[in-house]
Amino acid sequence: MFVVTKFGGSSLASAKQFKKVKDIVLADPKRKIVVVSALGKRDSNDSKITDLLYILHAHLKYSVPYEDVWKIIYDRYVEVRDDLKIDYKIEDELNLIKSQLDKNIPQDYLVSRGEFLAGKLMSSYLGYEFLDAKDAIEFNYDGTVNFDATEQKTKAKIAELKKVVVPGFYGAYANGVIKLFSRGGSDITGSIMAKSVNASIYENWTDVSGIMVTDPRIVKNPKTIKEITYNELRELSYMGANVLHEDSIFPVQELNIPIKILNTNEPNCEGTIISHECKDNSQAITGIAGKKNFVAITITKMHMSNEVGFLRKALSIFERYNISVEHMPTGIDTTSIVVARDQVEKCLYELVVDIKQELNAEVTVWEDVALIAVVGRNMANKRGLCGKLLTVLGENGVNMKMIDQGPDELNIILGINNCDYEKAIKVIYDNIM
Ligand code: ASP
Repeated sequence: MFVVTKFGGSSLASAKQFKKVKDIVLADPKRKIVVVSALGKRDSNDSKITDLLYILHAHLKYSVPYEDVWKIIYDRYVEVRDDLKIDYKIEDELNLIKSQLDKNIPQDYLVSRGEFLAGKLMSSYLGYEFLDAKDAIEFNYDGTVNFDATEQKTKAKIAELKKVVVPGFYGAYANGVIKLFSRGGSDITGSIMAKSVNASIYENWTDVSGIMVTDPRIVKNPKTIKEITYNELRELSYMGANVLHEDSIFPVQELNIPIKILNTNEPNCEGTIISHECKDNSQAITGIAGKKNFVAITITKMHMSNEVGFLRKALSIFERYNISVEHMPTGIDTTSIVVARDQVEKCLYELVVDIKQELNAEVTVWEDVALIAVVGRNMANKRGLCGKLLTVLGENGVNMKMIDQGPDELNIILGINNCDYEKAIKVIYDNIM
């Protein structure tokens, strides 16, 4: 039985945090695979090592003196080692990296050293073996993960090494060249490890006691979600909820390995469990997320619904401009196509002209659209929820201009003006949650 345990940067920001990690890992002998991020911020004025490494790379690339940035990075790793009083000569690794610092050092390799060094320190501190992610996670040359090769390599390494620390955020192509995931990608490493060994659970330790129902910058101290399905979480993440890296859900979802979001600073808090099915189905709404800055392009043409191929033709124009469509609420003679503003900014005028000419239709454009996703696996069984949403928003002066319910009834998407965004989230949270 394996538990894969991933710790984010804030859980590794200092020796004090390393100690908490050790207590957590050693409390359960099933925690045999520990995945670590690079050292994170100790407080709000501090810097993340990954950010510093990107900056270091830019200095090297543009031949700007880099010693100061390098020294901050160097000192932080040495300081953690000293504070933990471990007998590990991290200077050797640091000096090896230093010797490679020149204009041509590949960015992915340099940035991956943040996780690599954190992994080295943690393995020495825990007494676990170090498993370099380049020997476990293999990328195809098109940038996707080669899951078969990864599973084979990981299984073989775990069978040999038993208990390991794996640095997150990177892997390598078959030729050994290091490749990074996108930012926040240590979550993906954890998920891939869990899939490869068919773990009983994937624990993701961070600095919050689970996933919050909505954005705490908008609603003060929102409730924590105890249970959520993978699909609900994907809906919320897609609409901006910043919890786990989006790509970290698929690998474990496939094998139905539950993910737990836990707090390194409060290890006894229950956190949030993400799985296929949840026991508690009393709440209609699981979470509320949203994003600003969409554009709704409304196309109107009499008898549009009777014109075979009309929607296909409309969508093919968007495809030609390489614009991905977010939502498409449709009436008899009218359809609205909602897209992210940054996708149409450069070509809005040309796009509208093409739609008018090719479809012989009227077009109106509504800019400054915010979308709010109200997500819940139990919404399908609750009558009157949409009505209630419309009522409370109306009563509180939010002009709702669009509503779109997913066919699986897992979400309701509301379109409002950007300026009403925060207010609408508060109103929904206060009145419906
Ligand atoms: N250290 C990387 C980042 O800051 C990866 C991670 O922490 O997941 O994006």
